[in-house]
Amino acid sequence: MLNFCSLYSGSSGNCSFAQSSKTNILIDAGVSTRKIENALSSIKVSPESISAILVTHEHSDHIQSIGNISSKYNIPIYISDGTWNALSQEQKEKISPENHVSFTVDEKFSIGDLEIFPFSIPHDAADPCGFNIYNGTSKISIATDLGHVTEGIIKNLENSSCILLESNYEPEVLKFSRYPYILKKRIDGPNGHLSNIDAGNTISRLIPTGLNNVLLGHLSKENNFPELAYKTVMEQIVKNNFSDTSINLSVARSQRS
Ligand SMILES: [Zn+2]
Ligand SMILES: [Zn+2]
Repeated sequence: MLNFCSLYSGSSGNCSFAQSSKTNILIDAGVSTRKIENALSSIKVSPESISAILVTHEHSDHIQSIGNISSKYNIPIYISDGTWNALSQEQKEKISPENHVSFTVDEKFSIGDLEIFPFSIPHDAADPCGFNIYNGTSKISIATDLGHVTEGIIKNLENSSCILLESNYEPEVLKFSRYPYILKKRIDGPNGHLSNIDAGNTISRLIPTGLNNVLLGHLSKENNFPELAYKTVMEQIVKNNFSDTSINLSVARSQRS
């Protein structure tokens, strides 16, 4: 059994929750401790029951409160050495040595009855990764903050039943947005973020491998809208000759109320 829930998703902060019958974990903690406490309480999970926080990369929308929540609830932070070294001194000091657990990207590890496989993604951070999370025969994946989708990423996402997939921006909206040119180039560059069209094409490659549920996440506040992301992704799936009932598509909420 494997449950997954996106608590916060988007450029203003990211935090997801995964759960087997025995183990609860968070992936990223990019909003305040209080917001995470509130979101967990809304799904009736106590922060004390969290066994680990996995970190994808060092951008502040993913790590804002890892130090605070780790010290408040004595939660181990699982992080690659590259990402750890890119953290600020202030953030590192909040994490006690026994709660600093290092992993290597592309090497499997376990937390309770969960198996975790961190895989490398192209993004402008020190050592960014996505995660495959396994429990028995169940597999779910998290793939956000990726500039483009490589064949290696497709391989990693195959056979997942549920993916939190980035659908960051609509190309036409980005083109005409008030963002400075240099920032637009970063976002749509090979190490930036994934567009709605890229997300649609990625899902189309994965439907034949058993993908049932996709949560579109990490939407840009300025260059996308939930309804538009849904529409463009679904149109792209249909263009690729799949019916609109071949996948259960939803948009992860950026904030919980
Ligand atoms: Zn990032
Ligand atoms: Zn991000």
